[in-house]
Amino acid sequence: MNEPARLLIHGASGRMGQALLRLAAGRPDVRVVAAVSRSRPSQRVVEGVPQFAVAETHGVPAFDVAIDFSLPAGFDAVLALCQQRGAALVSGTTGLDQGQQQALDAAGERIAALWAANFSLGVAVLGDLVQRAAAALPGWDCDIVESHHVHKKDAPSGTALALGMRAEAGGLEPRYASLRAGDIVGEHMVQMTGTGERLELVHRATDRDVFARGALLAASRLAGRGPGRYRVADLFL
Ligand code: NAD
Repeated sequence: MNEPARLLIHGASGRMGQALLRLAAGRPDVRVVAAVSRSRPSQRVVEGVPQFAVAETHGVPAFDVAIDFSLPAGFDAVLALCQQRGAALVSGTTGLDQGQQQALDAAGERIAALWAANFSLGVAVLGDLVQRAAAALPGWDCDIVESHHVHKKDAPSGTALALGMRAEAGGLEPRYASLRAGDIVGEHMVQMTGTGERLELVHRATDRDVFARGALLAASRLAGRGPGRYRVADLFL
């Protein structure tokens, strides 16, 4: 068997970071060598994983892939770190601005870089279905309704915007609506409406572990690959 990919988890103290650490511990294909959080950690090593604050990343050990689930304000630093170390980056941070997406494009000339608004297999398939349906239904209205927990900061969600791009590629002009309620993990409905009929394509994530598992699989498959901007579909489908 190949050596496990050495991972750095960025945003380790967050909801996704905690899921990544818990699930990585049970996998033979990855080994977490550093957990990075915004604030100074209260313990230096937790369950065998060295902990670092963002300001201390010059001291992190060698790693093959960083997995980043943080906030846009933290993204530039982890992208720079990966380029300095020649490591790959898997990022699921949503709400990145155009300049950050362009920086990711530029980084793809030097490192393997994958950013995805959603790491679930079901949403990867939903994107394909949306584009096919949009192409087959010219002139129909297209509305994307997304629901998430009350702590989510960006709206519409990155996944809704990515699905909207697929609808546009099929020729429709999407509109967006966002709901923030309770502890909803993530739901996306793409509704296409004609005269006297309506098509609804829906994905519901009930457990955020699906995103963490997808990001870990992507990281393990990206480790050791050459420079480029990769998509989830390149690694999963
Ligand atoms: P969270 O608020 O629970 O955690 C955010 C983490 O980022 C924390 O560890 C925090 O310390 C860290 N952070 C904040 N600012 C930072 C900075 N300036 N530098 C470094 N670290 C910083 O959020 P969450 O629910 O874990 O979600 C994290 C991100 O992942 C969000 O952007 C969310 O939209 C996205 N997300 C993506 C997917 C996907 O499949 N792509 C799925 C779920 C969540």
